[in-house]
Amino acid sequence: MKRFKRLTALVIAFMLAVGSFCIGDGATKVRADETPMLISTRLAEGAKAHGFTLKILTAEEAEDGYLQVWEHDKTGAKVYMLVNSDPERAFGILFKTEPSDDTGRLHILEHSVCAASEKYPGLDVFFDLSSQGFITDINATTWHSSTNYYVASLDEQELMNSADYYLDCSFHGAVRNDPNYFYREAWRYVLEDVNDPLTVTGVVYNEMKGSLSDLDSFTLNYVFRHLYPGSNYAYISGGVPDTILDITYDQLIKFYNECYHPSNCSVLVYGDINYDKWLEKFDSYFGEFEREEFHAPEKYVPKGNYGIVEDKFPVAANTEDLSGRLLYIWDLPDDLSYVEYNALSLLANYENEITSPIMQALNASGIGSAYVLSPYTLGDQRQFLVYAYDADTSRAEEFKKIVDEQFAAIVKSELDKETLDCMFEEEALAEELALNTNGIGVSTVSAITRAIEAQDIEGMILEEDLMGKLGAIFDENKVLPLFEKAVVKNKNNLLYAVTPEPGLAEKNEAALAEKLAAKKAAMSEKELKKLVEQTKAYNEWNSAEGTNDETLAKLVTVDPGKLDITAPVYDTKRTEKNGVTIVTANIDSDVSFYRYSFDISNLNKKQVRYLNEYIGCLGLSTTTRTQEQVSNDARKYVNNFSARIASQEVNGKEVPSLVVSFYAFNDNLENALDHVFDMLYNTDITDPYNAAYIGQMATYSLGTYSDPGTVNGILQYAAGASTSYSMALSWYLNGITEYNFLKEAISSDEGFEQYLVGMSNSMKNVVKRQNCVIRVVGSEESRKASVDSMLARLPKKNKTYKAGTVAKIGEKSKNIKTMALEMNTQAGFLMSLYSGDNSDVKELAAEMVALSFMSNAVYIPQFRYVLGAYGAYCGATSDGMVYAQLYRSPEVIGPYADILTTPDMLEAYAPMIEDYMDGFKLQLISQLITPTGKWNMASTELYYLAAGDGNSPEYDIAAAIRALTVDDIIAAVPAVREAYENMGTAVIAASEEISAAGDMFDKVYILK
Ligand SMILES: [Zn+2]
Repeated sequence: MKRFKRLTALVIAFMLAVGSFCIGDGATKVRADETPMLISTRLAEGAKAHGFTLKILTAEEAEDGYLQVWEHDKTGAKVYMLVNSDPERAFGILFKTEPSDDTGRLHILEHSVCAASEKYPGLDVFFDLSSQGFITDINATTWHSSTNYYVASLDEQELMNSADYYLDCSFHGAVRNDPNYFYREAWRYVLEDVNDPLTVTGVVYNEMKGSLSDLDSFTLNYVFRHLYPGSNYAYISGGVPDTILDITYDQLIKFYNECYHPSNCSVLVYGDINYDKWLEKFDSYFGEFEREEFHAPEKYVPKGNYGIVEDKFPVAANTEDLSGRLLYIWDLPDDLSYVEYNALSLLANYENEITSPIMQALNASGIGSAYVLSPYTLGDQRQFLVYAYDADTSRAEEFKKIVDEQFAAIVKSELDKETLDCMFEEEALAEELALNTNGIGVSTVSAITRAIEAQDIEGMILEEDLMGKLGAIFDENKVLPLFEKAVVKNKNNLLYAVTPEPGLAEKNEAALAEKLAAKKAAMSEKELKKLVEQTKAYNEWNSAEGTNDETLAKLVTVDPGKLDITAPVYDTKRTEKNGVTIVTANIDSDVSFYRYSFDISNLNKKQVRYLNEYIGCLGLSTTTRTQEQVSNDARKYVNNFSARIASQEVNGKEVPSLVVSFYAFNDNLENALDHVFDMLYNTDITDPYNAAYIGQMATYSLGTYSDPGTVNGILQYAAGASTSYSMALSWYLNGITEYNFLKEAISSDEGFEQYLVGMSNSMKNVVKRQNCVIRVVGSEESRKASVDSMLARLPKKNKTYKAGTVAKIGEKSKNIKTMALEMNTQAGFLMSLYSGDNSDVKELAAEMVALSFMSNAVYIPQFRYVLGAYGAYCGATSDGMVYAQLYRSPEVIGPYADILTTPDMLEAYAPMIEDYMDGFKLQLISQLITPTGKWNMASTELYYLAAGDGNSPEYDIAAAIRALTVDDIIAAVPAVREAYENMGTAVIAASEEISAAGDMFDKVYILK
């Protein structure tokens, strides 16, 4: 499934980017208790409180909660309150901000504003709060026309403390009086000694270097240069590294004073909250300001067709993969309604099916490896796009012609009624599940802020019957005329063709080095000395004591000793039947979760690889169903279907397994199982159309290996492969051997033929009765029906069952402790990881606190503030993993040597942890006890039940953390030392850095 999932994920990413997340009929329906809070919020529109007037009050059912929209009488600031009974509450504040250059000032401001404030002084209170507060999530984002800050907590007072922090930062930011925050977050010259070369660093500077080294990110940022020339939409709000160097501290502060004003802001509160207390809080900040007029963003006047625009993406001279991106994009008309926009989104979804004529035509062309149609949004401007991955950009003209012809055909086509019905049914199941995950508050706050940004707030929040209205557009055949008008006949479009240019990366590097050398040469002796002084002064400021205790004491008021840590109890049962292990949890619901795992330890390595390829193709037509039938059944009967190969613990043993899981409505179980088994047994690999598609997906997968962002996703397997079987298996299936395997498979007709045959045969020895584990979370009937049906479907016990070589995967990786992946990137990534078998709860708890402390006390100051890396962390997880990580860092080799000294530093620091311990305890406990939805939590419980370990350890670890003393931390130092001494390490970096490291790596792979 992974390839299909990747594509789906891309579609979803596009959808999320446009904020098509539905609030009105979903997110508020959490935990349906009628609380006194809800009753007390039954006000009437026009009600007054603390200088605010209630403008809008939704008339939803009481148990779903209310949306209140308040306006501050004096300043006009808006307050959106979604009051319901969710204990994971969230707060957000948004300012309308718009770039008018590429200096990234909005983004720099976002970083430096939330660092500290007058009332809350410190070096970086944001990071202290995120590592030591009782909060479940905290972050800030810069979109094209807004800047948002948000935080969530399981405690209302703690949330209000953090909100107070954000409010004080917004209106009394410490950056106003101290340029060091600017030097750290934006950029600064570094000159330790007059004889050193002059260099430059800064967090946003490095973040954007990393971000724009990604071809997709580059394409989706730079295309607006050409679609909206001469307007603010043409600028990159995150900043362009070279241009970031143009902004000064004074310019930033001027901009801060202009934008961070109540009349230009909206705040949001979500969950089980007391609206009155919050309004009082907001008024205490807004009241000191006078109302000001802020203008809506300038409207863009479309200037017509820009034809084909070509651009170059910088890569290193010896780069082999020169495939690029083709992006055909339309600026959608401003008068498109929210419902119409979502209708286009559904149509795009419909046309993204691999059987649609447009996908068939594009796939047959061989121009790219994968394609997607999607709506998109930038600030309040909306677009529609067709995107081609790994494209031969010299065929841009042909690509355009195919899309134009197919779009004309879509307008004249007839949409398949059954498919549309299935798409709407799919929504019903997804909605049922969406209400039972964690982080709903943060998603809601984030979706509302996007809607405010897109000036769509009315449409998004107050649209009561979005699905009904969408249904009507399709029922009345209005969607194709809409598509024709908004896209097909719309002349405001262009085709953007981005091609990697070998050698351009070196050229850019050299130009920067030259610029810095010239800058230095032009400086007088005195100026140079001053710069050395400044570098020293910055480092001193930075190495000062962190946030003072008073600041944190004001913000963190929960006492960890008083926290209620009670694990939820699930009605679970474990039985064995004819060799099948069955574990179930009873949950009263219309939807159940099913997970089946099949022991595959009888397979050899090659068979496992083919099986892994085969399950990547599930969803294609089978020998009994057409593609349309498979796709429609998938929509109607299952949700979140996944098939993967992973090591699972069963009865105390690591078992390589094929794991299949999905959600289904209880009364659809038989249909769901029919669908799943047909895919597992009968997916038609050799059907010519499927075969061609599989070839293309292999090319697409191969293409993802040259993207540092994607490869960073598998870096943990690379690092952990030498330390655990589970990681080694994942690395074997997703890492370099997979890359080489795919390369081989598509290199010749014979190779490809063999690839298909291998896949076709791969399921033969897998799904057997004696080695199956069934896990079901659901109602009593669905659990029984599922087990009976499953047992009836499984082949009887087979006679020959011998261990294959799959258990030997990873033996070779044991000798590769350090690995480098040489890639085209302007920023480096590092992951060091030890995945041991630690089941000592107290020791794990102590390691978690100790490393979380080290992350905050050493990694962030040293690697983020001094070096300028965007991310730097170390930690331990509840399943016994110990890790250290660098993300988008200007260098990785030097810092690695420092990372290795972590246990020594911990030994020195451990006796002094006392004063900080409560904060770190709170943060870790908060992460461990946040509810993640009943299906999820019960199914985790079932994993441990089948493993033979009893219960999921999260709550035990949380309770152990609560009871930790300094002596426990000191006692855990040897365990941390052992983990660091046995860690595996993998890095992604540019060639120069890796070759300069000499022979420190056991293995170097080149991926570009
Ligand atoms: Zn950032």
